[in-house]
Amino acid sequence: MTFESILPIPDIFSARRVLCIQPHYDDNDIGAGGTLAQLAINGTEVIYLTVTDDLAGVVDASLSREAALQSLARDQQASGKITGVKEQIQLNYPDAGEYSYFSLRRDLLKYIRLLQPDFIFTCDPWLTYEAHRDHIQTGLAAAEAVLFSSLLKIPSSDPTLDAAYKGHSIDGVAFYYTREPNQVIDISSTWETKVAAIRSYATQIPPDSADQLIMALQLKSSQICEGRDFQYGEPFKILHPSALHCGL
Ligand SMILES: [Zn+2]
Repeated sequence: MTFESILPIPDIFSARRVLCIQPHYDDNDIGAGGTLAQLAINGTEVIYLTVTDDLAGVVDASLSREAALQSLARDQQASGKITGVKEQIQLNYPDAGEYSYFSLRRDLLKYIRLLQPDFIFTCDPWLTYEAHRDHIQTGLAAAEAVLFSSLLKIPSSDPTLDAAYKGHSIDGVAFYYTREPNQVIDISSTWETKVAAIRSYATQIPPDSADQLIMALQLKSSQICEGRDFQYGEPFKILHPSALHCGL
């Protein structure tokens, strides 16, 4: 008997609605854009939730705060159209700034209870040598929010919603930016879509930096396919919610 026979790796392509929780506005597309574009093509509702306001990474220092926010929003709308994102949610915590982990977890519980997705995508908070606190906090708060979504004694930031919530099942969590993948998704047919989405983030990634990023992604996305019968892949650690506690 194998562990997978007791708790199989959940099938992301069975999802009806996915909530993709990212620290910054480009992480979902960099980490999982090919897979998310394929899900959108298949008819799955793809919803993005961005935790921070992204202001720390704006390249043009002459932009006012308001102009920078508008420019970031334009990038996100453009990339979302390319990937097939149905809805964009912004929490606007300060990028690389000070904010409460528990406040973030309450907000994520709110959107999980409100939208009732059957799959969550987020960054792996246990990535070795990840130094960016926004990534660690976001991945961990998302995982904890999945674990606690049906425990109504753990409040979200919306008490009215909590009172009405009857619980729902979440099939799994797909962590991107992971060192311990248990699945590689074939993104050969959506590779160009992913590249185009990443090029939309020009407020943070000017064209020459985008070229470098895409070259690095191309190398990694093809290396992960060695021994497989496809050209480009995205690695994920995909876990059933029951596997998010005590290492089982
Ligand atoms: Zn990021």
